[in-house]
Amino acid sequence: MIQRTVFPLAALLLLSLTQLSFSQAPMKWKIHDLNRPLPPVITPGTASTQDAPGRAPSDAVVLFDGKDLSHWVGTEGKPAQWKVENGYMEVVAKSGYISTRDSFGDCQLHVEFAEPSPGVGESQERGNSGVFLMGLYEIQVLDSYENKTYADGQASAVYGQYPPQVNASRPPAQWQTYDIIFHRPHFKDGKVTHPARVTVLHNGVLVQDNVELTGPTAHGERPPYKPGPDKLPLQLQDHGNPVRYRNIWIRELHEGE
Ligand code: MG
Repeated sequence: MIQRTVFPLAALLLLSLTQLSFSQAPMKWKIHDLNRPLPPVITPGTASTQDAPGRAPSDAVVLFDGKDLSHWVGTEGKPAQWKVENGYMEVVAKSGYISTRDSFGDCQLHVEFAEPSPGVGESQERGNSGVFLMGLYEIQVLDSYENKTYADGQASAVYGQYPPQVNASRPPAQWQTYDIIFHRPHFKDGKVTHPARVTVLHNGVLVQDNVELTGPTAHGERPPYKPGPDKLPLQLQDHGNPVRYRNIWIRELHEGE
């Protein structure tokens, strides 16, 4: 009888103590504390139009401004072979993936792409490319305008894991945008403690809402996480289709700020 009453009481007390410590954890500053550091001032960017790319925010690293591939390398450290003309770069079939020279972990990434016009091929063979965060986690690039494929492989899917919430694709030739917020996985003692998380807006529409990745993305399988570096190069995929990219910029995010 005693045990039956005491145990729930103790459990309740423990629960409220836990809640208290959680709710107080981030309250390092008093409300409206004038000593609290102010956020840095930056100049925001401008939006792109179909005719012209917008400008990146002032604190972003511009990875491609339409002029050259100086921030990119090809496979095995060779020069990137993709075509650059008229303010965009274009995948050259069989030239391989391209990777950024620098490595990134947590980030906000802006990418614009245009699908080949007229669209050629069906399903996964139509305008396939991809944005690989840390070279491991693919946000699918595909011509998904009136082109059916499996749900977790269409445009803006986390490939093989999460279909987008809606299909916000524009027709071939039109410029489309991905705005991606990515948090890398964390590891301890060889095990994942915090899986990677990603949020994606496709043409301004929320399509991935802070989803938790099961591990790296792959075709036909869901491989488990393997402990690795905190930062790795970003990659764009050569899937054999002449997809175009322009206006790529990234802002590194710093934890605990
Ligand atoms: Mg792909």
